[in-house]
Amino acid sequence: MAGINKLPDILENSMENCKLCKERIADKLNSHIIPKFMCKRLFENTNPRHSVQISKDGIQTKLQDIPKEDHILCSWCEKRLEKLETYFARVFVEVNSLQNAKRKYKLEIIENQEILHCEEINPSLFYLFFYSLIWRSSVSKNILFDTFKFNEAIEEEIRIFLNNNLKELHSDLLEHSKKIESVPNYYLCLVKPKNKTRGIFSAYNFSQNSYAIYTVDYALFFYTNEDDCLLAHKTYGNSRNETFRIFIGNDESWKKLNNLVVENMLNYKNVR
Ligand SMILES: [Zn+2]
Repeated sequence: MAGINKLPDILENSMENCKLCKERIADKLNSHIIPKFMCKRLFENTNPRHSVQISKDGIQTKLQDIPKEDHILCSWCEKRLEKLETYFARVFVEVNSLQNAKRKYKLEIIENQEILHCEEINPSLFYLFFYSLIWRSSVSKNILFDTFKFNEAIEEEIRIFLNNNLKELHSDLLEHSKKIESVPNYYLCLVKPKNKTRGIFSAYNFSQNSYAIYTVDYALFFYTNEDDCLLAHKTYGNSRNETFRIFIGNDESWKKLNNLVVENMLNYKNVR
């Protein structure tokens, strides 16, 4: 039967199903694993125009473009993710320059540590967004993400959370996010450097049950077991919080983090 939207059999048979909905054909090309706006500066102000990525072997190579991947998502799921990303692209503009923000944010200082509270954004939206990011990193076959892999049960739990709660329309997404009751219960900590920095791109499993995605603009930490969560990330991070918090790293702590991240990654690789 030749329907209008039906792909030629030979193409359809060669494509796998979408990893997110598992129902439709993964017809989408160039799906971003990490949204572009989260690693904007990786490709800015560098001459020649490139950024450094570090592989699990500690080998530094040039990163020419933001990692993209073909045939992991269907067009429908890509569209649902886009709605979420469009929303967060605006949120991150506000987070970067609070003066002109339409939404309310509260900056709290605890023991010299600045924490930004995103008071007017439903935390479920943040969880959807960051889980979408780490889930894509886990399912990605791109070499950059080859040490970023959850076990099947966790990957599936996050997939179901995303698949059940992503919406095709912006208004539905916002409305629905208020009703989300069950969020996978793990620890997430987003660190944003206070000032512009130089940096690296890396995504990896840096120790037992501990994962990091590292761009020039942000560092995202994710822990699948509470006991392995670094104290600061637990204290200033997020796990079913009423408001989502962003940890602001000053120059010194960001630099320390840079070094620690690289060191941990190399050490972990050696003990594995
Ligand atoms: Zn899909």
